[in-house]
This record gives sequence, structure tokens and C-alpha cells, in this order.
Amino acid sequence: MTKLSVAVAAILAALSTSVAAQTPALAPLSGDTGTTFVQVGRLLADPESGVVQRDKTLVIRGNEVVEIRDGFVSGQESGDHTIDLREDFVLPGLIDSHVHLTSQTSPTSRLDQVTRSDADDAMIGAGFARKTLMAGFTTVADLGASNEAIFALRNAVRRGDVPGPRIIAAGSAVSVHGGHGDVNGYREDVMHLLSPESVCSGADDCMRAVRLQVRAGADIIKITATGGVLSNTSAGLAQQFSDEELAAIVASAHRMGRQVTAHAHGVDGINAFLRAGGDSIEHGTYLDDESIRLFRREGVYLVPTLLAGDFVARVASSPTNFLTPAQTAKALEAGPKMIDMARRAHEGGVRIAFGTDTGVSAHGDNAQEFALLVRAGLTPLEAIQAATVSAAAHLRISNEAGRIAVGMPADIVAVQGDPLTDVTTLEHMAFVMKGGVVYVR
Ligand SMILES: [Zn+2]
Repeated sequence: MTKLSVAVAAILAALSTSVAAQTPALAPLSGDTGTTFVQVGRLLADPESGVVQRDKTLVIRGNEVVEIRDGFVSGQESGDHTIDLREDFVLPGLIDSHVHLTSQTSPTSRLDQVTRSDADDAMIGAGFARKTLMAGFTTVADLGASNEAIFALRNAVRRGDVPGPRIIAAGSAVSVHGGHGDVNGYREDVMHLLSPESVCSGADDCMRAVRLQVRAGADIIKITATGGVLSNTSAGLAQQFSDEELAAIVASAHRMGRQVTAHAHGVDGINAFLRAGGDSIEHGTYLDDESIRLFRREGVYLVPTLLAGDFVARVASSPTNFLTPAQTAKALEAGPKMIDMARRAHEGGVRIAFGTDTGVSAHGDNAQEFALLVRAGLTPLEAIQAATVSAAAHLRISNEAGRIAVGMPADIVAVQGDPLTDVTTLEHMAFVMKGGVVYVR
């Protein structure tokens, strides 16, 4: 190890409490044949209600919950499996509404951008997808990656070739030229080569960018409405698209059945996007009373990504900070403001969906967001709702994720202890099942 990589390893170790060592089961422990009986001591099947039921058995056939029975029941047929979670607390598989599966911040990030191929990104993403699933996240929205890498990874998980969470993928973010979603800080000819097709200028050109994303396979449209912390440019954190461009983006996405979510720090960009009819805001760092009024009027979700703010502020103020000067200035400016922002939004009645921007921080640490949400004033139950029923509503997948119910996919996780009194129990998964297949036990 070089001196630098020792230093980096030390920072990363200090910054992230890694997921407890687990022996992941790559082959399903339960599968297509037979029925699985999961005996549950405490069950929060529907976090919306907050009701914890005692002594239940979840009956699972194929990828679905087919029955929820009182008491502990075992399978009687050959090929049946019984899983004992009588000492555990069981809840629906968690949802992270904002990740970047194909990358992770490191001192080599700027070099990786010009050395890794899309195929490399997809393979790296497969490793991170597995870590994410092992950490109890059975569904994620990936809000920024190369189209080729993330759509291939999403499809591979869907086919069952690669273990990972169900992925709702945006692909490349729609951004202005020179904006947060463009390639910045290299020599001009390199940037010209790497700049994605989703970068645009002018209303018509931005409609083109949205339509190309839909054609390429985007499930959701992600835009960078304002500047961002980790782009290597001193262009600030304010609004970057014009109001006309925002209106064109939202209209063209909605016409093709896609929701639009906006990365937004500066209040001008937040409020302009909400006025343009945008569907949700990521980060929201400088939101004000007017933003809160607009969020509530439109029923729009905020995804606060507190873990990202916490992470970049800690890196930027550490003695071994590896961010560039432009990144460091923005990290120190925005990072520390995010907990207070989430507190004001929550107190103001804004709907919150759980999202971490993981890929900024380390994959597998996603559940550290729960403690930050509680610091921002959410109750543990509200934080769990944000990562289940609310995230499912935000991503428009309430019929397939966010609850444990008959007819729903069997996405089920369990922890020891009581997450309704201590949300950090969610950082250590005792059991993870996705679509009826057991991955952690
Ligand atoms: Zn992000």
C-alpha cells in the first residue's frame, strides 16, 4: 500500500462504520419450489399504521406473500422451509430513493472518470448492488450513472443474474452545459468527449435530452436544477436551468409517463422547479418558507440525503481531505446546513422520502441515514415510514414495495432489538429476503 492509500483507507474506515461482516448467500436458501414459512416474533407489516403485531407466520410462495397467519406455523410438505425469526423484529424491505450504484467517492474519482469503461462501471455496480441488498435495501432509485452501465445492471438484477435491489434507474442526469451533471474540470477536448447526451441548453434542446433518456431506458428523469457540491467547478449552488427549460423538461417527461426529480440546493432552483410542476426534490439544502408552501401545495416529496451532507462536510474538514478546492468550498458551505433544513421541512409538514445519495458515502452504509433523520426531529417510526411506505409512494411503486401484505412481493428484513426505540438497529441486518429469496440469514 502506498502512503496515500493507507491514509485513504484510514479516512474511509474512520468515516464509515461498515456493515457487519456477513457471509452472503449467493444461492437462494429458499427458492421457487415449496412454500416458505417465516415465523415472526414482532411484525411491523404496514409502517403507515405503526402497529406492531406479535407471533405471526408469513407464508411465502414463489416471490409473493400468500398468507399471514396467527401464531407460529411450520411447513408440512417436502420442499417446504421454515425460518425462525421469533426473536426478531420484522419489517418491509427498505427503500433508498437516491443512490449511485456504479461509483463511490474516493481520491481516485477524477481519474476513474477517464479510465473506467461503462462495462467496468456496470461490474463495479454489481458489487455495490450486492452490498446494498445485504444492508436491507431491497429497492433503490439510482439517480445518476452512465446509461449503458446502470440500465445493464438494472436488467441483470431483474433477470436474476446478479444479486441486488430492485433498481429504478434515471441513467444520465439532464444538466445544463457546464452544470452539475456535465463533465467539469478537465481539458476542453476531454470534456467534449465525455459530456453526456443528456446535457442541454435551451428549452427545445432540453426536451431532446429528456426524450433521449426515455429512449435509452430511463424509468425516471433526474435533473440537476442547481449547482452541486462534488462537481469540480466553482459555479456555485444556485439555479442553473432557466424557468423555460424547467417547464419544457417537466412537460416532455410527463407526456412520456416519467416523473422528474431534481437535484437542488439553492432556493431559487428549488422554488423554480416546484413552480414548474416538478415531482420531487433531492437535497433541498437552502429551502425557505415559500419552498415549504410549494411542497405542501403540490404534495411533493423531499429526499433530504442527510448522509451525503454529513459525509462531505467530514471529508472536507479532515486533515486528509482529498476533495478539490472547488469541491471543498461547497462541501463546507452546504454540508452542515442539511440537518436544520430537514428539521424545518419536517416541522413545516413536508412529505419526506428516505434517500442517502450513497455513492457519495460508502455503499452498504445507507441505514446510517436513519439516525440523522431522527436528529432532524423525525420519530423512529416516521424515519421508517420514510424508507418504506413514503419512498414507495414517492417512486410510485406502492403496489410492489413498502409494506408486507398478501399479494405483494416478499421483500422482508429483520433486525435484533427494537428499531422503534433505536433506529441504529437497522444498521445491522439479521435477515434479508427479496422476492422470496433469502440473501442474509
Ligand atoms: Zn446524487
